[in-house]
Amino acid sequence: MIQMKNVYKKYSNGIVALNGMNVEIDQGEFVYVVGPSGAGKSTFIKMMYREERPTSGQMFVDGIDIATLKNSKVPLLRRQIGVVFQDFKLLPKLNVYENVAFALEVIEEKPEEIRKRVLKVLDLVGLKHKARMFPTELSGGEQQRVSIARSIVNKPKVVIADEPTGNLDPETSWDIMRLFEQINKSGTTILMATHNREIVNSMRHRVIAIEGGLIVRDVAGGDYGYEG
Ligand code: ADP
Ligand code: ADP
Repeated sequence: MIQMKNVYKKYSNGIVALNGMNVEIDQGEFVYVVGPSGAGKSTFIKMMYREERPTSGQMFVDGIDIATLKNSKVPLLRRQIGVVFQDFKLLPKLNVYENVAFALEVIEEKPEEIRKRVLKVLDLVGLKHKARMFPTELSGGEQQRVSIARSIVNKPKVVIADEPTGNLDPETSWDIMRLFEQINKSGTTILMATHNREIVNSMRHRVIAIEGGLIVRDVAGGDYGYEG
């Protein structure tokens, strides 16, 4: 599903964020990305949806060649993967239903198909009854549920999440994680950067630790592994 071969990323200010990274992630895996601040986790994650482009090396996501992908084809890539952010990134002027439907409207899906799929994913995340509410009327956990619904409405093979529980209280974080587990059980690959030690140590999955732009640990069912 995801392959990186000697991926190197140097920002324009000279900082090397990824220093020759090699990794393979299969369809259906659930992978945590951990490591200290500044290690390169966000850069690693951003490569997946081509928010950043490798300086050198080879990289494929769902068969798409990320390194050589033309900018004009990036929207196509982003339709094939779901992305969930720490700060939700919902559109404030659209209600819950519209935020989720938006992704389908831009690909000109049939109206009755849009309605069916949006209501289905809102039901899945437990927010069908709040379809007409606006993001500001929702709690942080509810907003994250909406953004998860948005991320899966296109039926992507992979969902990328950058600290999805970073702005949520512990109890809400567990609810959100259970949702990701459920999505993963239906066959969707999950790649998640996180600082949440309790969750990583409890809901065991493959753990990739990044330090200084390199993978320093890669363990199936691993633990969080950092103190403090
Ligand atoms: P993490 O997510 O693990 O905190 P990042 O991938 O955000 O790490 O950052 C890795 C390194 O790249 C850091 O030294 C950071 O300061 C630098 N960096 C991140 N984004 C940019 C950018 N847009 N321009 C320049 N340097 C950046
Ligand atoms: P996060 O890891 O929370 O997603 P960012 O990726 O925005 O945060 O930033 C991570 C690190 O990269 C921070 O240390 C930040 O200072 C640094 N960084 C982000 N953008 C730039 C930039 N344009 N130039 C230099 N450093 C940057």
